[in-house]
Amino acid sequence: MSMFNQSVTSLWQQTAVPLSQPPQLRERMNADVTIIGAGITGLRAALELSKRNISVVVLDSHEPGWGASGRTGGQVNPLAHATPDVIIQQLGPVFGPRMLDAYINSASELFNLVKHHDLQCEAVQGGWLRGAHCESATKDLQKMYDGWSKIGLDISFVEGAELRRLSGSDAYKTATLVKSAGSLQPLSYSRELARVAKSQGADIFANSPVLNVKAQGGKWTTTTQYGEVVSDWVLHCTNGYTDNTLKGLRQTIVPLISIQAATRPLSKAEYDAVLPEGHTLADTRRVIYYSRKDNRNRLLFGSLGTAESCARADKQRLLRSMRSVFPQFCEEDLEYHWGGRVAFTPDVLPHLHEPAPGQLAGLGYNGRGVAMATVMGRVLAERVAGKPAEDLPIPTTGFKSVPFHGFHKVGVVSAIKYFEFRDNTDAKFF
Ligand SMILES: Cc1cc2nc3c(=O)[nH]c(=O)nc-3n(C[C@H](O)[C@H](O)[C@H](O)COP(=O)(O)OP(=O)(O)OC[C@H]3O[C@@H](n4cnc5c(N)ncnc54)[C@H](O)[C@@H]3O)c2cc1C
Repeated sequence: MSMFNQSVTSLWQQTAVPLSQPPQLRERMNADVTIIGAGITGLRAALELSKRNISVVVLDSHEPGWGASGRTGGQVNPLAHATPDVIIQQLGPVFGPRMLDAYINSASELFNLVKHHDLQCEAVQGGWLRGAHCESATKDLQKMYDGWSKIGLDISFVEGAELRRLSGSDAYKTATLVKSAGSLQPLSYSRELARVAKSQGADIFANSPVLNVKAQGGKWTTTTQYGEVVSDWVLHCTNGYTDNTLKGLRQTIVPLISIQAATRPLSKAEYDAVLPEGHTLADTRRVIYYSRKDNRNRLLFGSLGTAESCARADKQRLLRSMRSVFPQFCEEDLEYHWGGRVAFTPDVLPHLHEPAPGQLAGLGYNGRGVAMATVMGRVLAERVAGKPAEDLPIPTTGFKSVPFHGFHKVGVVSAIKYFEFRDNTDAKFF
């Protein structure tokens, strides 16, 4: 009989700081700003707005951190997926360099925020190893190193025996190391953002799915089942869980599933043998492998999958993948499995939209949102506080639908299988 634990409860739920459970919205309220989505994006925006004495109501279908923000690997990675020259080409000479700055500084922005507000979320700025899974990926890493080091990112190469020592794995011959990166307990981070936003005056409501947003008398009315909020601004911070509340937004992203497993508590010897200096590890695969320790006594390992519940086939794939990096672990060692939705964009960059005066949306972190959602929340708050769109670090763009969006579910499952096959073939000949 399989020893796979059937529970979809995440490890983070077991170890997070307690949530001070927000009430359900059951009244009519007025505020300057309504925020839909209590993940990192929405909560950072709520915090920054409240600090400026701008009144905020945050509404979530579930509770703070319920979405990807409370389920992530918690790796705080300050790097885009492309090289800087590609991003400059995509965004031009004004927004290109600003976006690069936003990326480079994103991890430190997060760690400074944690320090400033004393957020209890096990944050450690311990560095990130990104391993090359094959020969051509080594060349890509070199290009990333060349481009990002030239514009000021503290990035270096680690190879051979030193990489084996730092990762605790033989899977990679070469990796880059980004020192400003790190990790945190993501559900605690989300709950702590909610706590400080509330302490600064934000009103947060749980179990309050937004049904619609309508223009009425020069303001926006946001309606939930039992209440409504009338405000000047509405911020859509729903990332991979975006529905049809804001017409056309859902079609701008492809929601993919990221899945993770966490081991049983490890012995000290087992724990010390992997990532002994507390680095996080991710790789260059198309169907990425990522892992870290939980800063207590467990190892986490993740990849892309097909179901948020981490279906049986996903669990088996995850185990195979994990054993190719850390062969010392077996099925019985994995106590937790879970998954969540991330949002991919065709240009692999985060998107900021202002489809109508008073409506903003920030989303599309392409699986690297812990740091960039923290930045996006701040940028949304700056826009509301009066900064012109042309002065923001992220360009404001129109909605561009992903082609054949309706077919993405079928397409994504086949794409994962295909890309996994190609990753494994590349790795075999390395
Ligand atoms: C398993 C997994 C591992 C990951 N690992 C990493 C990692 O290691 N490093 C990294 O940088 N990134 C990682 N990511 C990505 C990162 O977690 C996300 O990019 C980030 O958390 C997005 O934050 P968000 O606030 O924009 O969205 P979310 O946290 O997804 O929040 C969206 C919220 O919107 C709410 N919502 C949606 N519709 C409505 C509605 N109509 N009414 C009210 N509320 C609504 C949802 O309930 C949800 O709480 C991972 C993601 C997953 C799922």
